[in-house]
Amino acid sequence: MMNATEPNGLSENAKALMLGISPRILLAAVAASFLLGGCSDQAVETAAVAPAASVPPVEKSSIIDDASMADETAGENWLAFGRTYSEQRFSPLDQIDRDSVTELGVDWYLDIPNARGLVGTPLVVDGVIYFNESMNRVHAVDLRTRKQLWMYDPRVAEETGTDLRAGWEHNRGIGLWKDKLYVATWDGRLIAVDRATGEELWSVRPFPAEEPMYITGAPKIFKGKVLVGNGGTENGPNRGYVTAYDAETGEQAWRFWIVPGNPADGFENDAMRMAAETWTGEWWKFGGGGNAWHGFTYDPELDTLYVGTGNGAPWNRKVRSPEGGDNLFLCSIVALDPDTGEYKWHYQTTPGETWDYNSNMDIVLADLEMGDRTVKALMHAPKNGFFYTIDRETGKVLVAEPFSKVTWASHVDLETGRPVEMPGQRYEDGGPVRVAPSPWGAHSWHAMSYNPVTGLAYVPALHFSIEFFDHGVDPATWESSRFEGDTTAVSLDLGEGEAPYMGSLQAIDPTTGSIEWEVPLAGKWNAGTLTTAGGLVFQGRADGDFVAYDAKTGEELWRKNLGLGISAPPITFEVDGVQYISLLVGWGGGAAGIAGNLEVEHGWAYGRHTRRLVTFSLEGETVLPPQSPPEAVRPIVIEHFDVDADLAVQGADEYGRCGSCHGPGAKSGGMAPDLRASAVVGSAEAFAAVVRDGAKMANGMPRYAHLTNNQLTALQHYLREQAELALAE
Ligand code: CA
Repeated sequence: MMNATEPNGLSENAKALMLGISPRILLAAVAASFLLGGCSDQAVETAAVAPAASVPPVEKSSIIDDASMADETAGENWLAFGRTYSEQRFSPLDQIDRDSVTELGVDWYLDIPNARGLVGTPLVVDGVIYFNESMNRVHAVDLRTRKQLWMYDPRVAEETGTDLRAGWEHNRGIGLWKDKLYVATWDGRLIAVDRATGEELWSVRPFPAEEPMYITGAPKIFKGKVLVGNGGTENGPNRGYVTAYDAETGEQAWRFWIVPGNPADGFENDAMRMAAETWTGEWWKFGGGGNAWHGFTYDPELDTLYVGTGNGAPWNRKVRSPEGGDNLFLCSIVALDPDTGEYKWHYQTTPGETWDYNSNMDIVLADLEMGDRTVKALMHAPKNGFFYTIDRETGKVLVAEPFSKVTWASHVDLETGRPVEMPGQRYEDGGPVRVAPSPWGAHSWHAMSYNPVTGLAYVPALHFSIEFFDHGVDPATWESSRFEGDTTAVSLDLGEGEAPYMGSLQAIDPTTGSIEWEVPLAGKWNAGTLTTAGGLVFQGRADGDFVAYDAKTGEELWRKNLGLGISAPPITFEVDGVQYISLLVGWGGGAAGIAGNLEVEHGWAYGRHTRRLVTFSLEGETVLPPQSPPEAVRPIVIEHFDVDADLAVQGADEYGRCGSCHGPGAKSGGMAPDLRASAVVGSAEAFAAVVRDGAKMANGMPRYAHLTNNQLTALQHYLREQAELALAE
C-alpha cells in the first residue's frame, strides 16, 4: 500500500477532493475509480416490467450467422455489438438524412424502473429489440407492439459474493447467434438464453466468483464460438486471458493468456515463451495484468480475431518488471486464429507501459485507399492518445498520430513501430510528473464509428492530464491487494482547465491521422457514436443532449435534450419500411462513479431521474415525461449528531474503497447515493444494517462484514464531517 505522500502542484480541484481525506485513501479511491462503476444503495422498487401475456413468442426468420453478421449492405437489423463484424457502426439506412433529420422526434419510449448506469448497445432482429441494463438484466421488446416479450434476470447480486466486484454493475452489450442470445455477467458467467423465450439454456464460468475479476464487455460471437474476456487488472493479482466457448453447448473451445505465468510452471505455448523474454523480476506474483475487457473484433475476410489488451498489474513497471522490458502482450492488439486461439501477430501500442494506457478500445475494420493501394486496415484509438491505422494482413503500423495532447512520447517511429518516449515521463525519480493523456485515456470504451462514404472515424475524445508519482512504493515489499485499487502509481490532479475543453467529438481521417473536424463538448464523459449513409453522425452527451451532425463537416443539424446524461451509443434499424434510432438513456460507466468534483457538476444525482430506452423516427411526436432538472446534491442536516474530529480522521481511512462508487470526499457523481445526503448515516443501527449486514446487497451495495462497531462509527463521523463542511460552504 502507498505511504502517505504530499503531492506538489495540486489544482484547486484536487485540493478540494482531498478535503478531509488522507492521501493514501484518496489515492486508493481515485485509482479504484478508474475501474469501478457504481455500486448502489437505492430505494427504487425492484419489480421488473411485466411481460405482456398476450404477446406471441418471437418469430425467427433472419438467420444470424457469419454471413449475416458480415453483411454491410443490409440495414434492417442490428445484429452485433458494432452492427456488423467490421465494428464500423455504420448503417446503410438513409431515410433519416441531412435534410430530413430536422423532423426527427421521439416515436416511443420505455421506462426501465430498476436501472442505474446504462451503457449498452441494443441489438435488433426481426422486429424485436434486445438490450441489457443494470445487473445484467436482459429485455426483449416487440418493436411493433412496443410490449415486452420477456425479461431475463441472471440474479447477479446473489452470485457476486460479498465483494460485488466493488462497482461495475453496468455492461456494454449482449450477443446473438442463430436462436440464442448471450449475456456475460458481472460476477463472471457466460449464459446462453433462447432468444424467443428468454429461457436460460446453459451457463458457464470463465472465472470463479471469488476471483477479483468482473465482466463489463459484450460477448462476441463468430464461427459458432462465443468469446469473452474480463476486467480486474487493478483489483488483485490478475493474469488476463480470453476464452472461446462453443455457441451451441457452452463447452470451452480455447483460452489465450495475455501475459506469461511463472516460467517454472512451463509455458502454455510459444507465444508465452516469447512474451516471457520481455519481462523481468517475478512478475507472476502480481499477475501481470493485460486483462481484455472490451475490444475484440473478428475479421471474416482474413479469418482472424483481433484482441485489444489491457495495462499492467500493477501500473508501475518498477514494481511489476523492475529491470524494464516491453512486457508483452500488455497494451497490444494481438491477432489470433479464431478456431484455435493460436497467436498470429501483435502490435504493442505502449511498450513497457506504466500509466494505465490499455489498448482495450474498439478495433474497427475497413478497406482504405492509401497511396496506390487498397489497405485491409484496422483502426484503433487507445488510451495513450495516438490514433493508429494498421495493415491487418501484416500487423504493420501505417499511421500513428496524436488526437489529444500527448506528453509521454514525441511521436511513433513508423519504421520500428515504436513510440519515441519523452524523458522523465515514467516518473523515474518518483515524480510527481504531469502526464497526458490521463489514465482515463484520450479515448475509452465509448464507441468509435467509421463512415466509408466520408472516410472518417468519429471518436469521443477526452483531454486531460494527471500527475504520477510513487514516493513510498517499495518494489521489494509491495503486494497486490484485493479490490483496493492500489495501482502503485499515484494520480491526483486532473489538470482541469489546462485544455480549453475536456471532451470533444472528433472526425479523424484514418489514412493520415488528421483531425478533419472537432466539436468541443461540455463535460468529459460523452457517449459513443453512430454514423449512417444519410450523411449523419449521432452522439449522446453527458449533459443529456442527443445531437445529429453532418458527417462531412461536423455542422450540428438537430438536437434534443433527453433529461439525463447519456452514456450509451445509439443504434438504427428499420421496421415495416420506417427507419428508427434507439438509445438507452442512463448516466453511467466508470466516470459516473469516479464522481467527486469530476462529474458531480452535471447534477445527475442518484435515484432522481428515470432511466429509459428512447426510440426516434421522422414521424415521432411523443413527448417524454419531464425529468427533474439537473441539480447538485444538497447535504442534509442531522440534528444531534456531533462530529468528533478524531473519529472523522479515522473514518477517512476506512472510507477507502467506498469512494469508487460514492465518490472521493463522499461527493457522488450519480452512480450511488451521495452519503452526505443520507439519513442512514445518522443512525448507528441503520448504518450497520446496510454497510456491515448487507441490507442493500440486492441493489448492489456490498456487505463489509469485517467492519467493527468502532470502524462503522468512524465512517459515520467522516461522512457527517463531509456533509457539514459542504453545508458550511
Ligand atoms: Ca486499467
